[in-house]
Amino acid sequence: MPELPEVETIARGLASRVTGDVIESVWLGSKPEPLKSTASDIVATLESKRIAGVRRVGKHIVFDLENGERASSPVSRKSRKKAHAGMPATTAQWIVHLGMTGRMLICKPDQAIEKHTHAVARLASGRELRFIDPRRFGRLSVAHGFQAQGAEPLEVELDLFVKLFRGRKTPIKSALLNQKLLRGVGNIYADESLFRAGIRPRRRAASLTRKELPRLCAAIQEVLREAITAGGSSVSDYVDADSEEGFFQLQHLIYGQEGEPCLVCKTPIKRVVIAGRSSHYCPKCQK
Ligand SMILES: [Zn+2]
Repeated sequence: MPELPEVETIARGLASRVTGDVIESVWLGSKPEPLKSTASDIVATLESKRIAGVRRVGKHIVFDLENGERASSPVSRKSRKKAHAGMPATTAQWIVHLGMTGRMLICKPDQAIEKHTHAVARLASGRELRFIDPRRFGRLSVAHGFQAQGAEPLEVELDLFVKLFRGRKTPIKSALLNQKLLRGVGNIYADESLFRAGIRPRRRAASLTRKELPRLCAAIQEVLREAITAGGSSVSDYVDADSEEGFFQLQHLIYGQEGEPCLVCKTPIKRVVIAGRSSHYCPKCQK
């Protein structure tokens, strides 16, 4: 499943390729699962919109859409300005969640439509933006004034971080995966962050000390930034916005390493299940 760093990488890849392009028309497949908004709402919201930008919000890819035609000539830009005077530039958002196996593909229209293609947006540049998802856990939706819940882990201030986790009775691992607190921290990066911070995943969030909380906050940001720099890591196979395989896989120090010696102290790494998810930790380095 693509986690935050992969989604960030994909969103950046999409932003550099389709920002400024105009969605001319939209085709949607007949499978209902990928559509979180109604098909007619998605089509009406996307068609004839200019892509003002693409960004990551938590684990969502958000396309910011503007009204109007592409401003290809000074004349049309002028008339567009007149027609939409006083209207906010960004009017809607197209939100894509990749789920387990979803991906976005930018290609020429003559490229064969792959099996499991659920949406095709035809762009004014002559290219197509396709959403492909074999397992159909991915979701497409549209919004007007999209606001995600939870704090952005890469931007969260320490004060807010402390406030979010202090007093919670759940294991810290579960709290890290709770998208209402922090958005976009998944299983792999939760384990890696807890290892770096020296905190056992089963500890109650409320038991974390004034020294441990800042250490954990810093560890989360460090791990995510490293993974983004490395181009995202993934345990399942998926491709980036240009359909090129092979993100560099950031070495997981703890995730998936059950029974292996800890890289710091050589103690065998343990695995426990917390809230249905595998959690890995070093019994000596993590308290
Ligand atoms: Zn260790």
